[in-house]
Amino acid sequence: MNNPTLDKLFEDQLADTYYAEKHILKALPKMVKAANSKELSKALSNHLTETKTHVARLESVFELLGKKPRAKKCEAIEGILKEAAALSADYAGTPSNDAALICAGQKVEHYEIANYGTLAAWADQLQYTEAAEHLRLTLGEEENADKLLSGLALGGINQSADPIPA
Ligand code: FE
Ligand code: FE
Ligand code: ZN
Repeated sequence: MNNPTLDKLFEDQLADTYYAEKHILKALPKMVKAANSKELSKALSNHLTETKTHVARLESVFELLGKKPRAKKCEAIEGILKEAAALSADYAGTPSNDAALICAGQKVEHYEIANYGTLAAWADQLQYTEAAEHLRLTLGEEENADKLLSGLALGGINQSADPIPA
């Protein structure tokens, strides 16, 4: 590739994000099951439903570009999910079970927020108006999922993980 353009970079990172979303989709059911708090379990399970939409939206974006959906191995999400599974296993059945799950979940959300924020800005630059709209819808849902997790952590889960009064 002697003249890589932003267009090519955009498609490359779309494929990275597509891979990431598909792997998140596989990891979320285990997190839903591992949660003790009903609210956390519900939040994760709602995000599982949203994640199915995220995969479909990426497929629409590929279609808008006249391309077939393509997944490119994302080392980052593999690492984040591997770490998430290990952390969850390490703290399973302890008072920090849910705090560990929220930690893992927020790492995933922040990775996605970085991807979608970048992709939406590139779509604007490339004047892919409709693609940018799809990407911003997902960006908003990732940001919302992240905020919900923060709310649950601060709304009692961190305190239950540290039962000794301060
Ligand atoms: Fe997502
Ligand atoms: Fe990646
Ligand atoms: Zn997400």
